Amino acid sequence: MGGGNMTLEEAEGLLTINLAAVAENYCALRARLRTGSRCGAVVKANAYGLGVEQVAPVLYAQGCRDFFVATLAEGLALRALLADDVRISLLTGLRPGQEKACAQAGLIPLLVSTEQLQQWVAKTSANGQAAPCALKLDSGMTRLGMGESEFAHLLAQPELLRSANLCLVISHLACADEPEHPQNRRQLENFAREVKALRAICPQVESSFANSSGICLGEEYHFDVARPGSALYGINPCPGQHNPMTPVVNLRLPILQLRQVDGDVPVGYGATQTAVSGSWLAVVRGGYADGVLRAQSGRGCGAAVVAEPEGGESRIVVPMIGRVSMDTTVFDVSTLSDSQRARLQAVEMLNDELTVDEMGAAAGTIGYEILTSLGHRYCRRYC
Ligand SMILES: *Cc1c(COP(=O)(O)O)cnc(C)c1O
Repeated sequence: MGGGNMTLEEAEGLLTINLAAVAENYCALRARLRTGSRCGAVVKANAYGLGVEQVAPVLYAQGCRDFFVATLAEGLALRALLADDVRISLLTGLRPGQEKACAQAGLIPLLVSTEQLQQWVAKTSANGQAAPCALKLDSGMTRLGMGESEFAHLLAQPELLRSANLCLVISHLACADEPEHPQNRRQLENFAREVKALRAICPQVESSFANSSGICLGEEYHFDVARPGSALYGINPCPGQHNPMTPVVNLRLPILQLRQVDGDVPVGYGATQTAVSGSWLAVVRGGYADGVLRAQSGRGCGAAVVAEPEGGESRIVVPMIGRVSMDTTVFDVSTLSDSQRARLQAVEMLNDELTVDEMGAAAGTIGYEILTSLGHRYCRRYC
């Protein structure tokens, strides 16, 4: 069994993150935008689990100046990481008492209520001018955002709006990954109308609407600043169609034990699946504590990596068998020949062919959850 020249760190699995692919994806998304629309980047949750310290500077180098994170703590960390010419917005806004820290760091909170706007003005104003902030409108998703009637009341308070130093207004699409869904157009019409009404009072305010999938819906959805996240990291922004993004992650798990079973035997906790007599099983290091979601038990697959005698490696797709454990997962590698098995190096769970979207589907979830669940026991390598 191979993998003999693995370092001590790689012994618990190797997660390779391709930063050149992130840069390529950013440029590809930007190229889709209508003229005059800027491409921002969402790097919340540690850049979807891939490492904001490594990812954000790469995006900056490609010209990105509009960054979006979720929390104040994420904003402060990003501020320290990047040059002062970036705009950093906080997607989940502020809790009472965070106004001063936010303004002092030059972070832009997405505010969702009149009360939050009043507090922002009260807490951050100097010389009659508040620090820059943004407004998050609910155009139909019914998650975080100011509802229609509260917004109508706010428009009736132009003094408050003018003193608030609004630089950005955003809204978020609920069904952008389903291009035919009628809600997309409804939300677009609502948001366009609300932006227009707001600009009558605050003409300088910029608008932002599209996430990754929103960019694929067409130019009308692009507004001033796009906010892609997932597509930067290789997730398909147009499900059901060929993925236009370049894969970013490779997850390679070492083999702890390669064994042939005698007799038909149950595999793993709960004895949920049976390996037939003579099967070859590869037990790999990587389980649900490492982000190999237990929900994909019996459904997921991996790629057996086989060293080729003349150099290089080939890959053979192999099924999982039995339940995923906390630290280990079992693959049935019986389809490999004796010779291939002797040259087995590792099992990859994510690579250019096995995508985060597919792993998500096998676990009954989405690629987003796969990325943000990737564990911390792997050796992380950036290339
Ligand atoms: C996470 C998030 C995004 C990015 O969405 P993707 O689908 O990952 O491109 C954009 N806007 C808001 C408000 C978000 O919460």
